[in-house]
Amino acid sequence: MKKCMALLLAIALVCMFCSCNSGNDKNSANQSTGESMSNGAGKNIGNNTFSLGYDDQPFYTTRSAMMVSSGEGYYFFVQDQLFYYDISSKTCVLVCGKPDCEHKNYALENEDNQCNAFIPSDMFYYEKGFSYYDKDLYLLGKNSKDKYAVSIYRISPDGSEREEVCKIFSISDQNDIGEFAVHRGYAFCSLRTSESTAALYRVNLKSCEADIICEAGGMASEFNRIAGSGNYIYFSKLCSEDDTYEKWIGKICRADIESGKVEEICDNLGSFAVIEESVYFLNFKNPDFVYVCDTASKEVTELIKAPDASNMLLTDGKYLYLYYDSENSDTVNIVSTDGKIIDKIKVPNFYLIQGGGTDFLFVETVEYGLQAFDKSKIGTGVYDADTVYSIKEDKFILNQ
Ligand SMILES: [Zn+2]
Repeated sequence: MKKCMALLLAIALVCMFCSCNSGNDKNSANQSTGESMSNGAGKNIGNNTFSLGYDDQPFYTTRSAMMVSSGEGYYFFVQDQLFYYDISSKTCVLVCGKPDCEHKNYALENEDNQCNAFIPSDMFYYEKGFSYYDKDLYLLGKNSKDKYAVSIYRISPDGSEREEVCKIFSISDQNDIGEFAVHRGYAFCSLRTSESTAALYRVNLKSCEADIICEAGGMASEFNRIAGSGNYIYFSKLCSEDDTYEKWIGKICRADIESGKVEEICDNLGSFAVIEESVYFLNFKNPDFVYVCDTASKEVTELIKAPDASNMLLTDGKYLYLYYDSENSDTVNIVSTDGKIIDKIKVPNFYLIQGGGTDFLFVETVEYGLQAFDKSKIGTGVYDADTVYSIKEDKFILNQ
């Protein structure tokens, strides 16, 4: 699993380190009814006000290993099983309330006995990202009738109900799917449509109308790093300059979730994060600084010298979290939006930040254990975290 995560991270980094100028956007290419999608799915909350349960939770290193908050706890997947970490009791459970269930993470002959927490990844594409929206979990999965089609599924928070919500498109390969997120009534999904084209889909969760709001052209073009914020969905648009795949070009873009109108925010990217109207990012070509781009003026300025040569950046909407992705690095820098280092926490055997919300930072350690760091401890300089689960001698041990 660690190698898998390292590979995912490497891919994410390669992708994030590019800049793009393909400029092949095609706004509002409605592929369904041709009608506007602005009638009703979007919940108008106020542009910069985060609303838990309706907004995307873009605090992640990769969507394949993200965690989403319900406000009372966090959902996450490990080895095709859905888990829940309860904030108040600081305990972790499988999302299955079936009496006498043995909680197997493989298909049983008698489907009626199948564990509710078993979410097979060949059926449900949770590794593309998932969302907690309107008191349910949403994710992509295989269409029940057409093996080439992809559907959006809803899973109830106790795991007892699974519903196929919308059929959205057909694919030839599961790997063509980029990322998935739900934000303010719309699902967003990126898709590689050919060797040199990619599309970003928007799906109205009420009507299931799907349309393409952005397309990209160029070798190996793709959209990734989807992040909902305010009434926008932000993303990276990438492609290779040529077929050597050595030089990548890319842009950070955003689309208005209602109109679908896409605008480019800035060239180049490493990791990026959005807080209100500002995009914070690392620049592979100039890695010494953390940069901030004002989305209104498109002006880019240096925020702070990148602490500890950080090459990973996340946000929880309040602070930036920066670290250097290396086996020898154990320091997470917590930085305010005005560029002040609020805290430096040293995490023994640090591997990566898995995500979290405003209350907890979930940290994966080298032994492949997950820890929950209470953010009320930020500013003390002390890393004192609770274990969510650990793995000892290939045994998965939940802190129940
Ligand atoms: Zn079970």
